[in-house]
Amino acid sequence: MNSVSFEGRAVVPSKVVCIGRNYVEHIAELNNETPSEPVIFMKPNSAISEQLRAGAGDDFHYESELSFLIQDGQAAAVAFGLDITNRAVQATLKAKGLPWERAKAFDGSAVFSDFVTVEKDLSYLSLTTHINGELVQQGGVELMMLKPDDILAEVSSLFTLEDGDIVMTGTPAGVGPYCAGDHFRGCVYSGAQLLVVGEWVAV
Ligand code: ZN
Repeated sequence: MNSVSFEGRAVVPSKVVCIGRNYVEHIAELNNETPSEPVIFMKPNSAISEQLRAGAGDDFHYESELSFLIQDGQAAAVAFGLDITNRAVQATLKAKGLPWERAKAFDGSAVFSDFVTVEKDLSYLSLTTHINGELVQQGGVELMMLKPDDILAEVSSLFTLEDGDIVMTGTPAGVGPYCAGDHFRGCVYSGAQLLVVGEWVAV
């Protein structure tokens, strides 16, 4: 089983639960409808990877997401997470109304920085993503339609969140393709305070 790092300790998530379409500007950039209830999908433990893998051509898109590690049903820690998406496959599946696993749950589709402990108030969290030094995504709880406490309540109403499970909270605008050799630097902030940094070179 794959693990993530929480304050230097290996934790094995049983699942990663993801929220889709949680930022207005990202919904607009993909021409999606604003959902009447949250879009929820999952990635299995096997999707978790320390490596950031590039697909063939520009099939794979990055989505940067504030990601929470759960303990006792609460967000105990936060990381910078990448919800790697095969956008072309997802577009086909969406058009046919089919499940998204082929586009979202494959090996290497969930990549995380270290997880660091968070305080109870999650409302000041935000992230930035730089690719090859250029700022491509920026956003946080302030811009989310469904806030973390509501996300956890909704997710918990459907799925038991085990200790170590991860909840990804959707992506702000600025998603796009990447390719092998691209350098990613993702930062999570609480207000102005830098909490954690993740860096990868896509392979
Ligand atoms: Zn996403």
